[in-house]
Amino acid sequence: MLKAQLVASIAVALLMAAAPAGAQSPPERTSTRAHDTRAIEFPATAAGDRVLAVDTHTHTLFSDGLVWPTIRLWEAEQDHLAAYALTDHLEARPHKGDVLGDDRNRPYAIATAEAARIKSRVQPINGAEITRELPWGHFNVLFVTDVNAIPVGDLKSDPRPALRAARGQGAVIIWNHPWAYPGLDRGAGDPMPAGHRALLADGLMDAVEIANSAQYSSEAFDMALKHGLAVVGASDVHGLIDSDLQIPEGQHRTTTLVLAPDTSIAAIRDAVLRKRTAALFRQALYGRERELSEIVGGALRIAGRRRVESFLTRDVVELEVRNDASIPFHLRFDPAAIPLTASRLAVVPARGKLVIQVANVSDLDAFTVKAEVLNAFVEPGRNLALTLR
Ligand SMILES: [Zn+2]
Ligand SMILES: [Zn+2]
Repeated sequence: MLKAQLVASIAVALLMAAAPAGAQSPPERTSTRAHDTRAIEFPATAAGDRVLAVDTHTHTLFSDGLVWPTIRLWEAEQDHLAAYALTDHLEARPHKGDVLGDDRNRPYAIATAEAARIKSRVQPINGAEITRELPWGHFNVLFVTDVNAIPVGDLKSDPRPALRAARGQGAVIIWNHPWAYPGLDRGAGDPMPAGHRALLADGLMDAVEIANSAQYSSEAFDMALKHGLAVVGASDVHGLIDSDLQIPEGQHRTTTLVLAPDTSIAAIRDAVLRKRTAALFRQALYGRERELSEIVGGALRIAGRRRVESFLTRDVVELEVRNDASIPFHLRFDPAAIPLTASRLAVVPARGKLVIQVANVSDLDAFTVKAEVLNAFVEPGRNLALTLR
């Protein structure tokens, strides 16, 4: 969001002292702890798509962020992102007196050079945040080729000239934090304001943030589904990612999972346009049924099954449920087959396993487990139903 978060300013000042001045050389590669909870990792789907973490929204000192672009690249590397977008505000540059120069592609150029220097797995995406007051709000344009060629508009002006210029460069257009700024038509049958419906009709909107930093909006999620927009989650980080998103306390970056056949920027862009996305927010997934089935189905599986003897119950099988994702999954079992070893609710830990026993199973090999995934939402208030095999 526009208002910079100052909680990180002391730590940022320490880092800034080392980064842009070039007085001392930064480390070859930033460190990542083993079994780190911050690393966002999901296995490939059964159909072979990669599940890539992509942050569509970040800021640097080139707008109202508080860090040099190099720091953003290091943070993305630590979080195991496949890509992240540099989306400095076109119209808000409070550090202009300190960060000289008018080249708006410069943050991307700095990040790209650093990615090459440390041989990063992360790919920077060139972008910008087109910033307007009511009734428009903020829009991110991603995958653009020249930010300098996008017209900088008055905060009160119609954003269409800027959006069209970005579209001419192949931009994906995202409506940012719609619940906060400018605000949805709450209580209306369709919460999308008339001006934004006009943008959609003009083909100038592809996606909408349903989660931004530490906030989530069920109305925005509902609107994305009903209007056929890609579902996006983003950090909108201004300070340090660790303090903005409480990562040392066990949280992770709010981000988007993209299902793409490979990790290339072209494949990621195409996948977002095909709405092959889900939002990852506070260890829960939000998206369409198809994408969530593929993501969770790729992460959760029955890794082992065997018969066990029981004096109490007949035909007992023991199943090892394995989770290869970096978030836990909270399950509610089908009432017809509640495990002997759990209440109806159970958690399969991140990168871990849960062993359960189920009674009255006649066919060991054909047996499946039906459960709702309580931290995966296919629409507001409705959980993903999954069959584990
Ligand atoms: Zn922003
Ligand atoms: Zn914004």
